[in-house]
Amino acid sequence: MSSGSYPPRAVPPALQGLVKLALDLRWSWHHGSDVLWRTLGEETWERVPNAWLVLNSVSDRRLKQLAEDPDFLGLLDRQLEAQAEFNRVPTWFSTDYQGCPFKAVAFFSMEYGVTESLPIYSGGLGILAGDLLKASSDLGVPVIAVGLLYQQGYFRQSVNSDGDQLEFYPYNDPTMLPLSPLRDEHGEWVRVVLDFPGRRLSLRAWHGQVGRCELLLLDSNDPINEPGDRGITSELYGGGSELRLQQELVLGIGGWRLLQQLGIQPEVCHLNEGHTAFAALERVRSIQLETGLAFDAARLAARARTLFTTHTPVAAGFDRFPVELVERYLAPLAAELGIAMHELLALGQGDGADPDAPFNMAYLAMSLAGAANGVSEVHGRVSRQLMQHLYPRWPTSEVPIASVTNGVHTPSWDSPAADALWTRAYGKNRWRGDLAAVDAALPGIDDGELWALRNDNRRRLVAFLRRRLTLQHCEKGGADSAGAACGLDLDDEALIIGFARRFTEYKRPNLLLQDPERLVRILNDRSRPVQLVIAGKAHPRDQVGKDMLKQWIRFITRPDVIGRVVFIEDYDLQVAAAFVQGVDVWLNTPRSPWEACGTSGMKVLVNGGLNLSQRDGWWAEAHDPAVGWSIGSPEGLPPGRIAEGDRADAEELYRRLENEVVPSFYDTDAQGIPRAWVALMRESMSRLTPQFSANRMVREYTERFYGPLASGGARRTPEVARQLAAVVHGLRENWHRLRFGSVLVEHEAEHHHFHIQLHVDGLDPDWLKVELVSENDGVVRCEPLTRGEPLVGSEHAFNYHGAVPADRPSEHYTPRVVPAGESLHGPLELNLILWHH
Ligand SMILES: *Cc1c(COP(=O)(O)O)cnc(C)c1O
Repeated sequence: MSSGSYPPRAVPPALQGLVKLALDLRWSWHHGSDVLWRTLGEETWERVPNAWLVLNSVSDRRLKQLAEDPDFLGLLDRQLEAQAEFNRVPTWFSTDYQGCPFKAVAFFSMEYGVTESLPIYSGGLGILAGDLLKASSDLGVPVIAVGLLYQQGYFRQSVNSDGDQLEFYPYNDPTMLPLSPLRDEHGEWVRVVLDFPGRRLSLRAWHGQVGRCELLLLDSNDPINEPGDRGITSELYGGGSELRLQQELVLGIGGWRLLQQLGIQPEVCHLNEGHTAFAALERVRSIQLETGLAFDAARLAARARTLFTTHTPVAAGFDRFPVELVERYLAPLAAELGIAMHELLALGQGDGADPDAPFNMAYLAMSLAGAANGVSEVHGRVSRQLMQHLYPRWPTSEVPIASVTNGVHTPSWDSPAADALWTRAYGKNRWRGDLAAVDAALPGIDDGELWALRNDNRRRLVAFLRRRLTLQHCEKGGADSAGAACGLDLDDEALIIGFARRFTEYKRPNLLLQDPERLVRILNDRSRPVQLVIAGKAHPRDQVGKDMLKQWIRFITRPDVIGRVVFIEDYDLQVAAAFVQGVDVWLNTPRSPWEACGTSGMKVLVNGGLNLSQRDGWWAEAHDPAVGWSIGSPEGLPPGRIAEGDRADAEELYRRLENEVVPSFYDTDAQGIPRAWVALMRESMSRLTPQFSANRMVREYTERFYGPLASGGARRTPEVARQLAAVVHGLRENWHRLRFGSVLVEHEAEHHHFHIQLHVDGLDPDWLKVELVSENDGVVRCEPLTRGEPLVGSEHAFNYHGAVPADRPSEHYTPRVVPAGESLHGPLELNLILWHH
């Protein structure tokens, strides 16, 4: 695979290295090359940090000049050497991770937020995917990401003076994006072809370099396609069901085909959210083609190496398609897979569902994965409840969804001052290894330096806000207050609270507005003023979200708060970075338990910002009075009592602000340092930053999932998969014949001895596991029983026996039978269970 020779413009030979540097997106977080791009085109770089655009915008004359400038050539040489060095040095994966049992993990995601100059993301899901890629690059984990190149992406936001959101879809000129056409070994642009009803769809492939990792993108805007099809990859999360289905087919089926065409054989496939589940189906098809296995066996072979990460906290959030739509697009695939359409549909409907039930992409992913996880402990629990009915009669705690809490790519979110401070405390390579060294509480950094960091970060934020407010025509707020509206009244020594998020109901972006007069009093305390900075988009079809946005805009223009509260339009990576670096307090007030994880609050940690947040998502794991402030409870209230819960949470929020947050910020000692505040900063920075980093997250995915799935998958050879499919089939067919006989319990001082008869009636007892189950506080414990002799005169019934501690009555233990077998992934691959009642 290569990106070939793709500068749309001629670059002098001496400067050829610039092409390679400009196309490695590492410039978006590693600021070593900033000077280079600034020298090349200061104005462009400041406005749109896109090295590729800078290179393509500079004049030929300037290029010629620089090609003869020894200083510039020296700068370029050093950057090229730094890039080569980064790619050459041993990594955590190559040295510390034992065995490296895989060469490639294919990661599929509908969106990627790597840099604001590659606008193919809408929010949290995309940013997470971008951060995961960057951390994989740092750690040397060989992740190949697959996604879509949107011509327009997600909408860009502006807000008029009435508070109405205006939506724009500017065209992303692909030649100016930091990507290149993906070319094969003959220099030909790689294309993937899909069969759509009555036509063929051609997809063009693009290549992005994210440090050591690669990002492969597909787009349908190929002139040889029908006009309607050229727009399939136009908008992210736009259009109706059919367009969404088309996009997901392009991503999943097209994406897996692309890898095959390139000769890439990823051992592990990681499905990021249900949108991507078709990749796993195409993988099954390709295994069938290669090995001749039937569908069931190929599915077992594929799923052993597939991980599904769900990000959805409510059933309504699952991606679902009407059956007739799925039939129309997938009938040929069902035929190729050798299964009936209703069997294919059942993969996305769940066993025994109504044949007209919508086709659920998260269920499809569960049907094709060998492991699954949610994105925080709370979300793991919520997901187990959401998927419970796919595992009838299994205890909720055994629904096969683990959790890996999200993390953020620390080097992408730290301010220059924070970077310098952390370098002094822990050295340059602190985010590239296992973080074992980042444990002491910022050694060698005194309180004064921490407070100076905060002040420096806040000052930069205020400068950023003034620039942005001027660009977004702040003067439209009204002539008499134009200066205030443009941020001139912002005080860079006064407390700044920030929040930025999707304006949607469950995020409760207007919780602070429950009692506007109380908020005004907090903001306007003369000796302890408070400033608010806000950003966020509402989905174009989310009227509730838009109304909440309007409520804020109305509030902001009240004469008594003008200048104290600012709204920055078009929330994106750049705005997010400025906010999380500069704010003193990050506010997050979702309605529990609907925040799957939330990551924006993690981004302030490295910069010494503190969190004031709902005990939900990641904060339910992190919160502790020594690191910040909390409101609400992680369980939340039932639907009938939502308004009551909102009021209680708002009340708690105001009280924390009035009695704790604001007083603490202004309670300074003789040197002007608020000691208690700085103590919180130190604890939050040193304890939480490593824990909620993408570095920790990627190592966790690698150690708990990628590695085990790769080795387990390697053991599941085509022959093993074929045999296992026969066993699974036999168990399914005959399960109804299993029955318990007598159950005897003998009591002895310390133990209960169980003797249980089981009629297996044609099932192979080696594939059965009989166990005693007890539950304590939601924790399920299983004690396996040992199979003894067949019952006298029977070949189909066995005695099972075992002892359990008598610290609880024997009735607390319930016998059950489940499929056994090391190689079978629990209820995920076979959800049979029989209880003795
Ligand atoms: C981090 C980030 C998000 C996600 O924030 P949440 O708190 O998870 O909602 C969304 N958008 C942008 C631009 C971000 O940087």
